[in-house]
Amino acid sequence: MAYKYIDNYREKGARKKLVEELKKKGIDDENVLQAIGNVKRHYFFDETFWNQAYKDIAFPIGEGQTISQPYTVAYQSQLLHINKGDKVLEIGTGSGYQTCVLLELGAKVYTIERQEKLYNHTRQVLPHIGYNANFFVGDGSIGIAKHAPYDKIIVTAGAPTVPDVLLKQLNIGGILVIPVGDEKSQKMVTVLKVAEHDYEKIVLDTFRFVPLVGDKAW
Ligand code: SAH
Repeated sequence: MAYKYIDNYREKGARKKLVEELKKKGIDDENVLQAIGNVKRHYFFDETFWNQAYKDIAFPIGEGQTISQPYTVAYQSQLLHINKGDKVLEIGTGSGYQTCVLLELGAKVYTIERQEKLYNHTRQVLPHIGYNANFFVGDGSIGIAKHAPYDKIIVTAGAPTVPDVLLKQLNIGGILVIPVGDEKSQKMVTVLKVAEHDYEKIVLDTFRFVPLVGDKAW
């Protein structure tokens, strides 16, 4: 696919409209809205599909891969309450769009993808468009122990349960955001690590993610 990295007035305008749409849908964290307003989502699309890039929908972007719906990205980002400098583990790099939003929020991002092709694609694209994360390939359902602990962990694929191993890799005061359910639908779950072995879990809205595939997953 031929990707072009030009930000025209049409795309700038569409991006502003997307931010307004997300506000109307209930996203109220100004930092998150600003981050969405900054990430050029059309850079993840072939130019032929630029007219789709700022619709609030998930979209197939090749190699069987889907770029997440902006609302979902904003929703999960908002729940993470990112502070500048937070060390964040993202499980399911995919296109890297969510990664860019986390970076815009000032996070230091460790991101892992199980599909090697996607990993190779995204780790090349992101630096090219100005975003630097630490990319890993492998099963993220077991986290990345080597770089733990993290201030925040975000899972961008649907899991059958909350993997204990991810909770272990959180700092005290840290937050895990993970969609939990069956293959058809999941509830967004946030877990706050209050103290070692003391967790506060909140179950929120319903979403539909691709499955988290791995040792502590499907
Ligand atoms: N965050 C992406 C969307 C990701 S879709 C975006 O912003 O567009 C979910 C991704 O999780 C897919 O790429 C899938 O391959 C990956 N995935 C599924 N199970 C995984 C696992 N155990 N470890 C790492 N990545 C996984």
